[in-house]
Amino acid sequence: MPITILTGLPGVGKTEKLILAVAEAQKAGRTTATFLCGDSPRLRSRRNLTGRRRMSSRSGLRTHLDHFVSADHCVELLSEAEPNALLAFDEAHHFGERLVEHWCAAANRGAELLIAAPSDPQIKALKKRGHRATRLTLTCQACERREASHFFVHDHENRTESVCKACFVRLQTQAKTEIIECLREGKPFPGTDATYQPIELPECRKWQVNREDSQQRLDLMLAVCADEGLPQAHASYLDIGCNTGFFCHGMAKAGFTSKGVDVTANDIRIARLLSTYFRRDLATYEVANAYKYLGSTPDERFDVTSAFSVFQWVMIQRGPESGLECMRWLFQKTKRLCVLEMGESSEDHYGGRIGMDYDSAWIEDFMLAEGGFARVQCVRGSEHQLWRDLLIGFKV
Ligand SMILES: [Zn+2]
Repeated sequence: MPITILTGLPGVGKTEKLILAVAEAQKAGRTTATFLCGDSPRLRSRRNLTGRRRMSSRSGLRTHLDHFVSADHCVELLSEAEPNALLAFDEAHHFGERLVEHWCAAANRGAELLIAAPSDPQIKALKKRGHRATRLTLTCQACERREASHFFVHDHENRTESVCKACFVRLQTQAKTEIIECLREGKPFPGTDATYQPIELPECRKWQVNREDSQQRLDLMLAVCADEGLPQAHASYLDIGCNTGFFCHGMAKAGFTSKGVDVTANDIRIARLLSTYFRRDLATYEVANAYKYLGSTPDERFDVTSAFSVFQWVMIQRGPESGLECMRWLFQKTKRLCVLEMGESSEDHYGGRIGMDYDSAWIEDFMLAEGGFARVQCVRGSEHQLWRDLLIGFKV
């Protein structure tokens, strides 16, 4: 049986076509099965998939999601597929390239395969085996005149926007103006050309950056990840106190699915605009304070977590025990690596308001005693041109 491969920008109607094909096959009395990749942290965060098990198109069509499974499990299911069954895969790119040979094997045994939104490597591998993709097109959703050729992902609004080249440039320019306005309004120094984390826009190249050691910290974190074999496929990263998303973006570029949480709405707004219009890294951002967020999401876990100079503020605002509680929650969220930087209680600008005394050695002991880590490494700030020491907990 030939394999139907549907490609094209978000919004072209790939899922709609898939749902219609499933409905038609069911009407004809054939066995059908729909698949989405359960390995993907992005898909796992969608409630209509995990809860109601429903696949839906932008146009409002729905079908049951039969298999929300790992790539490994999918390989097994494919080997058991009945001839003449319709096996429909949406967002197929999440399954990775190795599924291609199993799709082809199932098709050779007589199953009908429908693959929507494969990755470029999957498309190439399928083409080598004689299966050609059908590219669907749509009109620019902004000007409604030309064919769309680019897209933006508005993650927090749960929508995508497919646009022509001219609208892409125009919307980017608008977003840039908004980002620069937001930056000028925000901390650390409202009304001046200064930011806390570096911003990669050329307009900000000469701006003063408060945390000049951001790139060093990111490089260090990535080097430790690489030593630990990370990122593997679908590895996830959480940054508590993410500010304008410098670390989320850096980790996303390296291959992590990134999530950032910060209490400052203006910073999250900037992070989202940068992510949608410039970084295009599919990072997700949430406005929340660290204590509430960590306390209310015990089941959400990440391969790598970080909190750079956040929990001393929780200590100042809610008392030291709340800061320690946040740290315990973050450790529990961590599957592999936790990177922690603490503003130390002896630093002048905290004015003795933290409510307890600690230093890096104390935090290291605390992580070992309460974090469930196999080991904890202290990276000395003084040896790496960092403001402060970094403490890295290793779960395995
Ligand atoms: Zn347009």
